[in-house]
Amino acid sequence: MWRGLAAGGEADGGSDSAAAASKPSSIPAADGGTGAAAAVEGTLVAIDRSALFTPQHHSHDPAVLAAAAAHKEPETELARHLKALIQFRGGPISLAEFMSEALTNPQHGYYSQRDVFGAAGDFVTSPEISQMMGEMVGIWCVSTWHQLGRPPRLHLVELGPGRGTLMADLLRGTAAFPEFSKALRVSMVEVSPHLRCMQWDALRCQGTPPDAAAASAAAAPDSSSSPGAGGSGDTSSSGSLSADSSSSSSGSTSDEQGEAGTAPPPAAGQAVRGVSGWNGGVVSWHRSLEEVDVDAEEGEEGEGCPALYIAHEFLDALPVHQFQKTERGWCERLVDAASPDSPLHLRMVLSPGTTPAAHLLLPRRLQQLSGAQRRGLEALEVCPQAMAVAESLGRRVAERGGAALVIDYGQDGPYTSSLQAIRRHQFVSLLEQPGTADLSNRVDYSALRSSVADSGAAAECLGPIPQALFLLGLGIEQRLEQLLATATPQQAAALRAGYQRLVGETSEGAALHEEGMGSSYQAFCIAQRGLKPWPFGAVVEEEEEEVAEVEAGEGDQAGAGEAGIGEGGGEGVGTAGEQQQQPGDRQPASNITPGS
Ligand code: SAH
Repeated sequence: MWRGLAAGGEADGGSDSAAAASKPSSIPAADGGTGAAAAVEGTLVAIDRSALFTPQHHSHDPAVLAAAAAHKEPETELARHLKALIQFRGGPISLAEFMSEALTNPQHGYYSQRDVFGAAGDFVTSPEISQMMGEMVGIWCVSTWHQLGRPPRLHLVELGPGRGTLMADLLRGTAAFPEFSKALRVSMVEVSPHLRCMQWDALRCQGTPPDAAAASAAAAPDSSSSPGAGGSGDTSSSGSLSADSSSSSSGSTSDEQGEAGTAPPPAAGQAVRGVSGWNGGVVSWHRSLEEVDVDAEEGEEGEGCPALYIAHEFLDALPVHQFQKTERGWCERLVDAASPDSPLHLRMVLSPGTTPAAHLLLPRRLQQLSGAQRRGLEALEVCPQAMAVAESLGRRVAERGGAALVIDYGQDGPYTSSLQAIRRHQFVSLLEQPGTADLSNRVDYSALRSSVADSGAAAECLGPIPQALFLLGLGIEQRLEQLLATATPQQAAALRAGYQRLVGETSEGAALHEEGMGSSYQAFCIAQRGLKPWPFGAVVEEEEEEVAEVEAGEGDQAGAGEAGIGEGGGEGVGTAGEQQQQPGDRQPASNITPGS
């Protein structure tokens, strides 16, 4: 998500975590600063928690306590839950567990119950900025489908679809390719009941909305907020997934529905399904990537069909562990209950020694780094779920064919501490009012590549390449021209501003919501061996090629200009975008019809 690029990269990332990580001494050790040794038993490591609840700066002076209490932040439901969890565990929890709870706790998690996107929310993502983002990803899918030999059935899986805007723009735009559109079978991997409802509306589905299934799934034994990756060792508290049927966002009316069908009410544990009004195809919802099994759902028709996966600003929401080198060895940053006289309810502490996560994750990740990267390394952030997702995607595309597209704010190398919190388009403290701010980290693409390579899957990684190269290579400029040809002056201004945000550079002093995403966001591809999806293949082969040459496109690549995207799709401009293109700015085809 667009949370802004603080000058100087990760060290100045605007997060208190980044600042703290660069000043190890500012973090109290979890043992109260005594440096008590961790108890090591074979390979299992336990933390000595005996002194964890000794407040660092505790005062018994009633006046001091009263003054401190007056400045105490309001306690969120999630903060209460986290403090209970810390007490129950008998000590601090990992930053990863804190992040997982803060974002996806079924009842109080940031994503679980509200719409957090857009100008009125906390942050803006590319698909919300301009319809062209979803359309270009659609062009990438059509182009890759061509390279796969135009299979009659193609599984399209989106991880973390947010409001569903990208998929809606993709399905609307690719309706210009009827054969492709008909081949699609869409799966949405979403953990938030609230967002599942929004996605249902955005895709113009009919039938039983996903919240009904969430309620029935809550009764199923495995109804915890299972991560997209699974298997990381991070735990999330389970709880009932509360249904919120009043959350419909798009306000779509029945006459806006395309060829929609009606899905029967899902039984407990069954995937939610609808039929999208955009392409008349089946869409199903899942809580994790592991649940997505097209063979089981499709029977013989879908057996063995290749799949394309889209993870747009998904990996940055997956929980990270942060480790720090100290005189006691590698320690982990943990989240503990704060003392009563602290203004916050939670505080960051350092483990007194190694932790199970450090033991399991660090050796592997350190081994993947080059000698130069390891030299002088004082801190390291590891996102095991992102690595597990990459590994799973690698296996999937190797076994079934296809490719995965990852787009996120990141770099081709490790971060020491990139986690940051954003509320209302401003950076805030990580621990302040948990559950009410977005938490995101930056993606380490080298960790994804290493995970795919280590898995031994017959898959290869391409990129990362700057988002600008990716979009220009797919023909965003031509698409802009098409849309401008019939736009009103107001629409034209919104389209130009959106284009600039998507492919432009971050200019010095720009406000958070104005910065360009062209190079800070990167596109990355995990493909079945031998497949070189456009424009990754071209960039890899000719790194120094000019952007202008990439724009021109080659061979059977479906650029937006040649494709006449939207021509068969009913509507020209039609985005759920909010920053530049307002939802109310939807234009019927009679108003805007893409030219040329
Ligand atoms: N792709 C969208 C939304 C990005 S926000 C966009 O670019 O606009 C991150 C999304 O991932 C949200 O939909 C959030 O609910 C979902 N998400 C976060 N953690 C998840 C997890 N562990 N499993 C599945 N979905 C998750």
